[in-house]
Amino acid sequence: MVVLIESSGLGHTYPGGVEALADLDLSISPGEVVCILGPNGAGKSTLLKALAGLLPITAGSVTWRGEAMEAWAPRHRARRLAFVPQSLMALPEVTVRTFVAQGRYSHQGVFARATPEDRQAVDQAMSQADLVDLAARPLPELSGGQRQRCLVARALAQQADLLLIDEPTNALDPEHQIAVFELIESLAHEERAVAVVTHDLNLASQFASRIVLMDGGRKVADGTVNEVLQRSVLEPVYGSGLRYSSWRVEEGAEGKNGERPIVLPWRSSDSSALSGPVDGGGA
Ligand code: ADP
Repeated sequence: MVVLIESSGLGHTYPGGVEALADLDLSISPGEVVCILGPNGAGKSTLLKALAGLLPITAGSVTWRGEAMEAWAPRHRARRLAFVPQSLMALPEVTVRTFVAQGRYSHQGVFARATPEDRQAVDQAMSQADLVDLAARPLPELSGGQRQRCLVARALAQQADLLLIDEPTNALDPEHQIAVFELIESLAHEERAVAVVTHDLNLASQFASRIVLMDGGRKVADGTVNEVLQRSVLEPVYGSGLRYSSWRVEEGAEGKNGERPIVLPWRSSDSSALSGPVDGGGA
């Protein structure tokens, strides 16, 4: 099987001495949507940044199609991997379209003018992220969710083979949460893969082709939705405050009997909740 990116014994220790990532083996192949789950502080963001080359690797190695990446120039790297942060530290005073077009920098020479190919990539990214109507709006005027879609669109314009996306649905209403994950799913095809950090176990259940569960800087599980989203795997990481059920999926079902796990945070005083399968229709 072709592997896009592979880490072996990957570790990162922050300058203050916090070992945020340790001994992490991970490979991602074209076509995959890998959801990275884990509690706050588990090392998920550090993992994405280390894979993206935004943080130095202090142990182990990362290869791209078998090739060492350490010496890559930023522009060379950006054509292969796009990192989508949770939010921007400072909001540039530019329009949505100008911001999305920044994703083309890695394809353009210094001071080069945008080519028809650049414009087409930006148009496509704007339309995929449902931003066409907002094209002329200044970025600082947008809602948190609209800004998050701009961040995804900028990475799409970059046309990289691997998208590393950090919590893309944080500020989104339910309709846009689904839209973003449908978009992510549509991006993963023969050439391209997506690794996405999320706290939403149920979006992961619906959209992940594989789930990586992290805790304390280490990978504690790596498998299919049905292998990972179960009590015996999640309880050691998240504690006993979750309730487990499943949803029958009539078509396109992966996993046992066409069922997708549902995992909900539930108040501990209510032990009667979700004791049996949810009586739901197909998804
Ligand atoms: P997650 O994304 O799973 O919430 P992070 O990767 O952000 O976890 O953080 C993992 C650990 O690294 C945490 O203990 C966090 O406090 C620490 N950490 C994150 N960023 C820094 C930093 N810039 N300097 C020092 N420690 C950090």
